[in-house]
Amino acid sequence: MALLEEPIKKALELKNYVNGEWVKSASSQMISIVNPATQQTIARVPMSTEQEVDDAIAAAKEAFPDWRRTPPLARARHLLRLIDLLEENFEQLSRIQTMEHGKTIDESRGETRRGIEMVETAAGIPSLMMGYNLEDIASGIDEYVVYQPLGVFCHIAPFNFPFMVPLWFSPFALATGNTFVVKPSPRDPISQFKLAELMDEAGIPPGVYNVINGGNEVSQRLLEHPDIKGVTFVGSTPVGRDVIYRKCGETGKRVIAQCGAKNFMVVMPDCDLQKTIAALMTSFFGNTGQRCLSGANLLIVGKDDAFCKKFLDAFVNAAANIKIGYGLDDSVQMGPMQSPDGVTRALGYIEKGIKEGAELLLDGRKPRIIGGCPAECFVGPTVFAGVKPEMTICREEIFGPVASVLRARDLDEAIAICNGSAFGNGDAIFTSSGKSAREFQYRVESGNVGINIGITAPMAFFPFGGMKDSFFGVLHGQGRDAVRFFTESKVVIQRWF
Ligand code: NAD
Repeated sequence: MALLEEPIKKALELKNYVNGEWVKSASSQMISIVNPATQQTIARVPMSTEQEVDDAIAAAKEAFPDWRRTPPLARARHLLRLIDLLEENFEQLSRIQTMEHGKTIDESRGETRRGIEMVETAAGIPSLMMGYNLEDIASGIDEYVVYQPLGVFCHIAPFNFPFMVPLWFSPFALATGNTFVVKPSPRDPISQFKLAELMDEAGIPPGVYNVINGGNEVSQRLLEHPDIKGVTFVGSTPVGRDVIYRKCGETGKRVIAQCGAKNFMVVMPDCDLQKTIAALMTSFFGNTGQRCLSGANLLIVGKDDAFCKKFLDAFVNAAANIKIGYGLDDSVQMGPMQSPDGVTRALGYIEKGIKEGAELLLDGRKPRIIGGCPAECFVGPTVFAGVKPEMTICREEIFGPVASVLRARDLDEAIAICNGSAFGNGDAIFTSSGKSAREFQYRVESGNVGINIGITAPMAFFPFGGMKDSFFGVLHGQGRDAVRFFTESKVVIQRWF
């Protein structure tokens, strides 16, 4: 394999970041982090103890009163310093994500950029956090609302955007005057380690921002700890619904739980074929299908068999030509899956699709990998035609580069099929008709909707939607929703004699 610029030269021993210090975990349980493209161990991460979680929460609780009294503008200045540091370290952060996750370097750069945008948006907190007032609600009496932080919040992170996802929450929590504990995914925690170094360098006071590594036990402790006021979670639906949302209900905590997905890409016969195919390639196969906003089901609308064939041929042809390899190689268009478990899962679904009678048009089980990478984590683009809504590969989240192609008679039937899904995260329509687009946007049960856009990722100043089994909670991450989530509204009614 060609020598590529790897920022991690030898395996890192990751520590926790608590109260402004780097603390070695006392745990004897360590997990090796393996670069999925090269199979080299690049870090070892501890599964921290309950006492270590308690210490992080205690530090955050202790730091809260002073941080809360720090004027919003002064809090924002810390974030502005962080933005400078993130920009200075942009390329290194991106390369680390490729090494720990497998995504291409361009995808990692996109992730870093999106992460920075969250910090930029949260830095506007003096305006975002303002309340409102009304004079003379009765004669000589005025009323106003102020938004106040609550205390310690935490984040439990998924593996698929190891750098960006925690940033959907932490800058907003910090800007509003709360303190924070992050539990990175135990599968790829290195970019969070790097982010904590930069938080430290940005002068965020000790205890305001903490990172505690670990798995389910660490999550459990965060969920049950009385000093955690609210939990932000991004991950799979079974964990989000049955563990996180349930436990937060029992313990009376605020919660945002952004969960799994099975997104439909609806193609109308009047779409722009070439531009649609290009958008669908990144939607279905970008990040190796490991996005909550990935296209999973391709729904071709209309009775015109010739259009369907032409579209499908173009789709399969483009998918078959995607270059697969180590994401640090600039010419690579699709990296490996993040773990062998993900591969096993995807292969299991491919078997299931065949068994249930779908037609395997493109088989990614033995992909051609450029650059001589070991094959452990690679699955190539896979396309099934003849898929029916009741088939497992249409209903369940595969979280890999597998596309299921369905057909619908007309837009009504297409919307009904989309709405029959248990999920509702990021459905999209491709059309040149405003009427079809408007109808789709109005009726589809999906928290993020694309119109000629294949990855419906909201910008930092909009909420990240999600409906049905894709989201549990009320307020969403990012933007004004996040500001409200991390604050309590207090109403003051005053009269002076
Ligand atoms: P996951 O649910 O396996 O893990 C997420 C986090 O929860 C990890 O930090 C993990 O350590 C912890 N966890 C796992 N099992 C737990 C348990 N039983 N008790 C307590 N904590 C537990 O998810 P993942 O595989 O890391 O991420 C992929 C999933 O995330 C996909 O389903 C994807 O759709 C979803 N996702 C959703 C969004 C969104 O915005 N809706 C964004 C990104 C990813």
